[in-house]
Amino acid sequence: MDVIAPELMRRFDIPGPRYTSYPTADRFKVEPDAASLVDALRVRASGPALPMAIYIHIPFCDSVCYYCACNKVITKDHSKATDYLTYLEKEIDLVSRQLAGPQGERSTVSQLHLGGGSPTFLTDDELAGLVTRLRNRFQIQENAECSIEIDPRTVDSQRLAHLRQLGFNRVSFGVQDFDTQVQVAVHRVQPFEMVKSLMEQARALKFDSINMDLIYGLPHQTPISFARTLDQISELRPDRIALYAYAHLPARFKPQRRIDVLMLPGANLKLQMLDLAIARLLEEGYEYIGMDHFALPNDELAVVKREGRLQRNFQGYHTNAGSDLLGFGVSAISQVGRAYSQNVKTLIEYYAALDDSHLPVDRGLTLSDDDDLRREVIMSLMCQGAASIPALEKKYGIVFSEYFDEALIRLSEFESFGLVSCDKEEIKVSKAGWFFVRAIAMAFDKYLWQHADHQRFSKVL
Ligand code: SF4
Repeated sequence: MDVIAPELMRRFDIPGPRYTSYPTADRFKVEPDAASLVDALRVRASGPALPMAIYIHIPFCDSVCYYCACNKVITKDHSKATDYLTYLEKEIDLVSRQLAGPQGERSTVSQLHLGGGSPTFLTDDELAGLVTRLRNRFQIQENAECSIEIDPRTVDSQRLAHLRQLGFNRVSFGVQDFDTQVQVAVHRVQPFEMVKSLMEQARALKFDSINMDLIYGLPHQTPISFARTLDQISELRPDRIALYAYAHLPARFKPQRRIDVLMLPGANLKLQMLDLAIARLLEEGYEYIGMDHFALPNDELAVVKREGRLQRNFQGYHTNAGSDLLGFGVSAISQVGRAYSQNVKTLIEYYAALDDSHLPVDRGLTLSDDDDLRREVIMSLMCQGAASIPALEKKYGIVFSEYFDEALIRLSEFESFGLVSCDKEEIKVSKAGWFFVRAIAMAFDKYLWQHADHQRFSKVL
């Protein structure tokens, strides 16, 4: 039986943002300079000492995966990381100085994530140096979530043990697919046995949570081949699974031009693979968190989802309530209070800004009252699958049905298919509606309807 009714897939699998923020990053303006981030940091420093999250972007990779849409630098020259780390430390120093208390107290950090690119492009010593610098500049809580993305081809048991020693307690392995033909076609060959051995070592090292990323829609994938990958995933049983759809956009992402378009599965096959994967993961006892995320019932992500405390930021779903996020490195995004800011994307620009002792901010946005309200509605729907109307009316001094009259009309189509219900008390996403939560949230996105430009996003499934 289909997990998602084919009619719903046809009607509601539309292009739309992933809502890792609202307004989405493509709405950030070029005009803001670093000043708005500095102001937000100062406001934060003068307020209550709430813990924050840190994201560090390490852009380097040894070789290119053809499906890649990340901001990365492909190089075999590992000395490039040395320069980058020097500048990264400069940026960390500049920001932490703005946040220091009157006696130079360090800000508290409850979540640290290293992503890329490939953070494991760095040597063990370089990673240790980076973590030490962070610990010198920030107070990383003892029970902080410290996670790192791992390219399985770049680590062995010793490196994993070193990461554990440095304090990382969560790892995420990029798997995508175990089929050899698919791996060759996307230029990322990493045999099942390699990943299995790392997984066993990570378990032995007692990492709290192990995530694996999968992608459906890659060249040569079929429902049969993908079912075999899912069998292997069931054998490994990671705590979390992120299941992404491959979006073929070769005009935007150069490496994708190396993918043979004739070998890509069509839209129907893609949806079959999605349906197959969802059914299989639910059968294996995973809970559906939202969008592309699944977790075992005892994983913290599933626990916070059940308790209505799920959060969403630029790294996707997470467990850290209401914290500001500092992003360091090229293209990293920060969210401090009402200010969003994104760093420049190239190494040249990044180094030049820091040589001048400027924060390397490229673009950003300070939320208006309307943005703030819509952000709350959209994030409540994306994370809790519900929005309380009396609470929003009280907090923002609005009459919900008047303020959001157009959005409520847009929701009526979802309502008629049982994907969402709306009354005077709340908007509630149904179990079937969870698969289309992005499309439901879009009803409240002012920018999307002003510009009628949602076609440029990937589809919601
Ligand atoms: S998918 Fe990851 S490892 Fe592959 S090129 Fe992109 S950033 Fe690098």
